[in-house]
Amino acid sequence: MSFRLRGRAAGQWRLRQGQESLHFNERLFAADPAQHMPDTVAHEVAHSVVYRCHGRGKRPHGPEWRAVMKHLGFEPRVTHETSPELLARILNHHLYRCACRSHALGPRQHQQVHRGKRDYRCKLCGERLIRADQTTGLAVREK
Ligand SMILES: [Zn+2]
Ligand SMILES: [Zn+2]
Repeated sequence: MSFRLRGRAAGQWRLRQGQESLHFNERLFAADPAQHMPDTVAHEVAHSVVYRCHGRGKRPHGPEWRAVMKHLGFEPRVTHETSPELLARILNHHLYRCACRSHALGPRQHQQVHRGKRDYRCKLCGERLIRADQTTGLAVREK
């Protein structure tokens, strides 16, 4: 087990050469403990249970995984709900807004928007994402 996971993934169950391991994102856990303890841990442990009961080849978040989560008493959620504002602050992401909510874009996505190479749209409302963190006093790093 390690706490060395980076980026937006909070946890990861890995299988390498028949060896299972669990990895967690220390920054996300520290910044939003209520979100990840114990839900993210249960999420990854459930992957291990599915592997032990059914072997390989099952869909990662398929019916077997959902059943294990429910059996353990957890909501079978695939994504965590750490707010985009918090992600922007702790992961060096950039905050964007559409008509309905905030979004955190990673450094690479942000560079593409910044250079006019690409636009991102909200999957819910379809609006173009507009940068929002210039006015909020958050530290903004430019390269
Ligand atoms: Zn998963
Ligand atoms: Zn939207």
